[in-house]
Amino acid sequence: MSKPALIRGYEVVIGLETHAQLSTQSKAFSGASTRFGAAPNTQACAVDLALPGTLPVLNRGAVERAIRFGLAVGATVAPLSIFARKNYFYPDLPKGYQISQYETPVVQGGEVEFYVGEARHVVHLTRAHLEEDAGKSLHEDYHGLTGIDLNRAGTPLLEIVTEPDMRSSAEAAAYAKALHALVVWLDICDGNMQEGSFRCDANVSVRRPGAPFGTRREIKNLNSFKFLQQAIDFEVQWQIDLIEDGGSVQQATVLFDPATGETRAMRTKEDAHDYRYFPDPDLPPLVIAPEWVERVKGEMPELPRAMGERFQREYGLPAYDATMMTQSKAFGAFFEATARACGQPKLAANWLMGEVSRRLNAEDKSIDASPVSAAQLAALIGRISDGTISNNGARQVFEALWSGAGSEVDAVIEARGLRQMSDTGELSAIVDAVLAANAKSVEEFRAGKEKAFNALVGQAMKASKGKANPAQVNELLKKKLGG
Ligand code: ADP
Ligand code: MG
Repeated sequence: MSKPALIRGYEVVIGLETHAQLSTQSKAFSGASTRFGAAPNTQACAVDLALPGTLPVLNRGAVERAIRFGLAVGATVAPLSIFARKNYFYPDLPKGYQISQYETPVVQGGEVEFYVGEARHVVHLTRAHLEEDAGKSLHEDYHGLTGIDLNRAGTPLLEIVTEPDMRSSAEAAAYAKALHALVVWLDICDGNMQEGSFRCDANVSVRRPGAPFGTRREIKNLNSFKFLQQAIDFEVQWQIDLIEDGGSVQQATVLFDPATGETRAMRTKEDAHDYRYFPDPDLPPLVIAPEWVERVKGEMPELPRAMGERFQREYGLPAYDATMMTQSKAFGAFFEATARACGQPKLAANWLMGEVSRRLNAEDKSIDASPVSAAQLAALIGRISDGTISNNGARQVFEALWSGAGSEVDAVIEARGLRQMSDTGELSAIVDAVLAANAKSVEEFRAGKEKAFNALVGQAMKASKGKANPAQVNELLKKKLGG
């Protein structure tokens, strides 16, 4: 890990708390549906409304997903964990407390590995605990009144807490992306950030290098990687300004406003003791038998890291390429299908990191939505490596496939006249003509000017209207000039 850059002489310290909504059909402690977007209060049952006499019943599927996560990050899955009540008053929390886990969470420790550019980073996890979400206050369209929608109340969340390990906003964003990719890969969260299924709180402080940790402020509810990075960048400058002006940072909870790019204090931060946590008497301790963990282990998909290592081993990919190819399960599958079909794994990785990613990013698409299939990409790569088309021609074929102007690689090559001249007789004639017409360059080359050779290659390419295979032109020229 490289030394983090200082900002105006300060080191940035970041710890993230991420809420991943678990993809169960029903809620954490009731049978109501978790489906997004229903009419307000149509998916809130008596338990979610906190009607007297109701009792919570834990959703096994939520626990199962927590176990999957724990195994994936190399954490300890606690054989016994405790649900606690976190007490606070808010209109969208009818019970007056949130069921969470406090002293004994279900997942303890673990780590997440990711890259910032080509540098490998590891962030340690403190814990991941199960809890329920609150409802929503709706401030729009109610004639100045606030509405309460309890559809979200009781939705299962896994709150994933890191150690204060990150040292830049870029690192925090890269961690969040890697974590997002992981929970989607594990099929425990749908990852939909617009719908709030994955949201981060960023704890940020600054310090002089070597000094103890500074006081942190917590930026709540960041639901995009871009906002996460922007919010931290703003917050860091704000804290440094304050300290440089002789002030000191007060622990606080702040909100980020995407419209202004600024963070703003919401409330001074509660300490844990303000919540009066205590074990929930309505819920017995959560006991997870070793057999359950073993079963989940047996059902785990191949994880990104293992898949990346396999890609290095089986296909000879460099470590960086292997990480890029395993950015999602779908991406890994696409790479593998392409590599197998064309037998050129490195070229497949290059195309996927280059042209394919460029177009996917530009159109904000994921690999599942690529208009060019793995079979088509493999066919295209095949035609580059057998010399039928040049790289430039290949880019044109790719564009045609992407835009739907063509669907069959060879047909596109023929229709657009992109086939490289590979007939040596024809090429030989062109090279002879070029040599005859450029006596000066030939002379210069013989006198030792390497540049003159390139000029001759250029002339031959031009004479072939770009259809000659440059490698063949080179070879022919060398032979004829040397002879
Ligand atoms: P809470 O927010 O629940 O009061 P914690 O003390 O558990 O919580 O810390 C929450 C997060 O704050 C963790 O991700 C932790 O790494 C991070 N954190 C703790 N101290 C600092 C600090 N000085 N600077 C930045 N982040 C910090
Ligand atoms: Mg917190």
